[in-house]
Formats: sequence, C-alpha cells, structure tokens
Amino acid sequence: MTAPAAIVWDSALLGYDLGGEHPLHPIRLELTIRLAKALGVLDGVELLVPEEAPLEEIERIHDSGYVAAVRDAPMAGWDVGHGLGTPDNPIFDRMHEASAMVVGSSLLAAKQIASGATKRAASIAGGLHHAMRDRAAGFCVYNDTAVAISWLLDNGFERIAYLDTDVHHGDGVQDAFYDDPRVLTISLHQNPLTLFPGTGFADETGGPGAEGMAVNVPLPPYTNDRAWFRAFHAVVPSLLQAFRPQLLVSQCGVDTHDEDPLASLSLSVDGHRQIYRTVRELAEQFARGNWLACGGGGYQLLRVVPRSWTHLLATMLDREVDPGTTLPREWTDFVDEIAPSAELPGAMTDKKSTDFEPWDGTVDERVDSTIRDTRRAVFPLHGLDPDDPRD
Ligand SMILES: [Zn+2]
Repeated sequence: MTAPAAIVWDSALLGYDLGGEHPLHPIRLELTIRLAKALGVLDGVELLVPEEAPLEEIERIHDSGYVAAVRDAPMAGWDVGHGLGTPDNPIFDRMHEASAMVVGSSLLAAKQIASGATKRAASIAGGLHHAMRDRAAGFCVYNDTAVAISWLLDNGFERIAYLDTDVHHGDGVQDAFYDDPRVLTISLHQNPLTLFPGTGFADETGGPGAEGMAVNVPLPPYTNDRAWFRAFHAVVPSLLQAFRPQLLVSQCGVDTHDEDPLASLSLSVDGHRQIYRTVRELAEQFARGNWLACGGGGYQLLRVVPRSWTHLLATMLDREVDPGTTLPREWTDFVDEIAPSAELPGAMTDKKSTDFEPWDGTVDERVDSTIRDTRRAVFPLHGLDPDDPRD
C-alpha cells in the first residue's frame, strides 16, 4: 500500500543556513527527521529528493532584479539592498542555491498533489512566508509557499486556501495574493502591535476584487491552546466551508510554543499536534482531502520543533504518535552529543489539554474581541453572519 502522504526531504536542504548564532538553525530539520525515523514514523516511506527551482519558477513571485541581487550577494559582500545583509537576513555562501532548493522542495510537494500521485504532501524546509516580491524579510529569502501556490493556480487549481498558524503574520503570502480572488489566505498570529512584522490586523481583508480573501486573527500575547482553538474554530471552518477550496496549503510554524524564544504565545506540543489533526480533518471535509503542508518558524530547536513536526509528519501519514510516547534513546543520545547541556523533555507531550469552550457569540474572554473583530471584518463578505456563532 502506498503511503497517504509524500514527504520531501534531503540533507541538501540543510544548506539553508543563515550561519553563526542565527535563530533559524537547520539542525531543527535534521532533528525532526531523525526523531520521526527513530519513532518509525517514516518506515517504508520513500523521501522525495528536491532539486533547485529554476529561475522562471522563482520569478513567479520575485522580481528578477531581486533574484539577481541574491545570486550576486555572496560576492558583492555588503550593501546589496533588498533586505539582504541584515542581522535577520545575513548573506551566506550559496544563498541563492540553498534558497532555490527550499522553493524546489515545496514545488515538488505541490507537484505530487497536482499529478494525483498523492493527496497530501509535506515540505518541512519550506514555509518561508515573509519573503516579499523584491526583498528578503524575517529570515526568508524566497517565498517557497507563494511560488508553490502560484504554480498550482497554473496547473489545475482555481481555489486554494492558505492557512498560516505560525506565530508571525504570513505577510509575504498575503501580499502575493492580496488581489487574487482564487486564494483565501488565513493567518492566526500574535498581535502585530507586539511582534514582527507589524502587519496582520483584522482590517486587512484583501484588495479590490478580492475583498474578504485575506483573513487575519491577531491573538493577544500569552494566548494558550484553549484560547487559540476557541479563535480557530470561531473563524476558520466557516470560511473554508463558504470558500470550498480545492486544496489546503498550511504553513506550520511552531514558534507559537510557550518556550519559543522569539515570541509570546503559549501553545504546547499537544496544541501543535491537535492543529495538524484539525487541519487534516478540514482538508478532508472542505478541500477534497488535498493538503500541502510547509514548515515555518520555530526556534526552540531541541525541545519543541522536532517533537511538533514529528507529530505533523505522523498526522499526514495517518501514523499517529501517542503523546505519551517516550523519546527514543538513539535520538536523545544524538542530541546529548551535539548539545550536552540541553535538558530534553521525556516524551512526545507537554501534558497539556487541548479542550476548549466554543465561542458563543459573546465577549467574555480576552481572545473574544479578536474573534469578534475578525468575523465582523470578513464574514459578511462571505455571506456569513459575524455575530451568529452557528456561522
Ligand atoms: Zn514565525
């Protein structure tokens, strides 16, 4: 029997390395694949090896002048503009090639779905959602996810929903399709008044001809699993039901975790696992089962990202890992070798409940004013009643 999901992975993707003490360290990807393998999640699964995306695919989303600047940057050294050579987006050796490989990864995943080879595909190195048409931003050089969506629009898909659960606003993807009624972008993130990139307010709802196609849920700092799911369920399922996408693309950043060093939401690994199970169900219910998952942020490299994304891969492959599962010795031994002082969790859980009280139309909790603002901004544009919790 073939696996229910295609998983794109190759160690060449570790070449996207911003160097030194940069928070986006590729070890998080290697540790994810090692943990998934050690737990048997990838047994019998053939990992698909990506190639660097060609220029014409990258230039679906990015200006050729910017792409040229990325290619020249390692030689030019400094002052190349386009957001390059900053602390967030340092210039590194083979920057273009490594970034094109990430685009190639998400593109390969997209092609697996478009060809009918599979309904679910994962590109955990992808999800670089901040990259803009003419500049790097927020650790992101090329917007692999936007390139993949653009390619899918040219290859048989007319309605695509993008769901971004990273702690940061998915601004680059929103921008790329802001005027495009074929793409519904939904981003749940920490309130932009308190976090990079400073966009993603409820009143950003889409450009002319695409009103209501950008949806933003700016959550208060310290939002926990309970409140996060209350907001998610008050906004997302109704919109997907109304839009009826042919495919769901999810950006699965895990910097929403309570221990993440760069942001201040308070989700758990159990919350992340529940997000993936929920997205899988929504894809089945509203998107013909088609689900393309990209990675994203996540800077607690040892304790959080590997566990959360192992749950992602397991969920995609219908090989649920029980939260109580102990971390395998071969994996913890490896982490001990590279980070001897790290204190590792014992199991695949943070022992948090993901139960929540559904939103009932009132404003009782801190997160409820966010829910109300987002629903009032976009629900009427989809024929939904923002104040009726049944919608
Ligand atoms: Zn992020």
